[in-house]
Parts: sequence; C-alpha cells; structure tokens
Amino acid sequence: MRILISNDDGYFSPGIEALAEVAREFGEVTVIAPERDRSGASNSLTLDRPLSVRVAANGFLYLNGTPTDCVHVAVTGLLDHKPDLVLSGINDGANMGDDTIYSGTVAAAMEGYLLGVPAIAFSLARRGHENLGTAAGVARQLLRRYVAAPFPAPMLLNVNVPAIAPERLRGIQITRLGRRHMAEPVVRTQNPRGETIYWIGPAGGAKEAGPGTDFYAVEQGWASLTPLDIDLTAAHALGPVRDWLNAE
Ligand code: MN
Repeated sequence: MRILISNDDGYFSPGIEALAEVAREFGEVTVIAPERDRSGASNSLTLDRPLSVRVAANGFLYLNGTPTDCVHVAVTGLLDHKPDLVLSGINDGANMGDDTIYSGTVAAAMEGYLLGVPAIAFSLARRGHENLGTAAGVARQLLRRYVAAPFPAPMLLNVNVPAIAPERLRGIQITRLGRRHMAEPVVRTQNPRGETIYWIGPAGGAKEAGPGTDFYAVEQGWASLTPLDIDLTAAHALGPVRDWLNAE
C-alpha cells in the first residue's frame, strides 16, 4: 500500500512524524507538508507564484504552499503513482464541528478525496502534543482495519482523539459534526508604530455538542470518527428557495 501523508502544522511537527511512523508499518510512505505552520489555510491553492519542493534531512518533502497544494502537487504530478490512501495530521488541536471548514488538516485529506483517493484526517483534540501516542494508536487501529477491509469507494474520514492516556481511551465512536458558538471577537491591539492591528480571535466553544456529535464523544473519552462529504448544496432549501424566487 502506498500512503501519502500531509498536515497543516508543517513538516517539522511531532504529529506528522508520529503519523508517518505508524503508516510505515503498513506500506510505502511519502510525506509532503507545508514548510511552515499553515493551520487555518482551509482548501486554498496557491495560484500566484510557483511552488518548490525540498527534501528535509529525515526524508520528508516540504513545500512553500498550503496543505492542499501539497496533496495536489503530489497526486497530480510529483508522485509517479496514485497513492492508495491519503492521511493528514496528526493535527496539534481539535478539528471538530465548524473547525472542519477552516482546517488545513481536513483540507489536505479532502484534496486526496477530491482526487479520488480515500483519505483520513487525524487531530489530537488538545494543543501541545501531550498523549500524541493515543492518537497514533487510533491511527494504527484504523489502518489495520483499512488493510483488512479497504473502503468499497473512496471515503473522507475526520478523526479526533482526546488527549488522554491510551488506557483511558474508551474506543472509537462514529459521530456527526457538532457546531461551535460564534468565534470570539477579534483582538484589537497596536503594533510598535502605533497602528491598529487585529488578531483573529479563538474559535467559540462547543454549542451543538450533544450525544452523537464529535464534541460529545471526545468529551466522554472516545475518539470521534466522522465521515465527511463535500457537496454544500442545502437540499432542504431547494424547495423554499424555488418558492421564494417564483412568489408573486
Ligand atoms: Mn494545525
């Protein structure tokens, strides 16, 4: 099995090293990741400048672009084969609920999925890499399962693992995405020249976080596994919008 790995934290992140180490137990691994932290890059492609790929001392490839660039470049030209699986992460921090809209970790996996390759995004739900081994263990469990029984059609899975000791992890639960509260207000401050600058504030807390959601599962000590899709069509709104457009 040929596995392509990327992330959004950068090629130097402990999370991507841990994921690559697990993946090597299952096949031939190529790692290509951004040269710097691109968390929050979402699905952006770099179209206004060329991209260069360099090789780090440990053999990882790194690129001066986004997570999506990494997977796109790898699958559409850099690799001489189409990978069997794209993995992303292990992200330094949760990607649950609305986070998935902004996440570069999810985007890297999504790019693989868009290009017809099954893909899994992994995130450790608390920043700081503590208990990274718990997330690596979940990755190993899912890869073992995948090798035994590959998906019948490409799927996109989003996995979040609580940052607890492995023996405290209760297992893996299939979930849907929850919702977050509106983001915290932007942080307004001044630069050294007295000009007003803004920092994007932190994400809001969990809002729709009841049983069945990723937030709930992780809070209760489970790894959450949410299958994602890309079609943004609001099927439930087709009728109402048609009525609205055609009303007298
Ligand atoms: Mn990140």
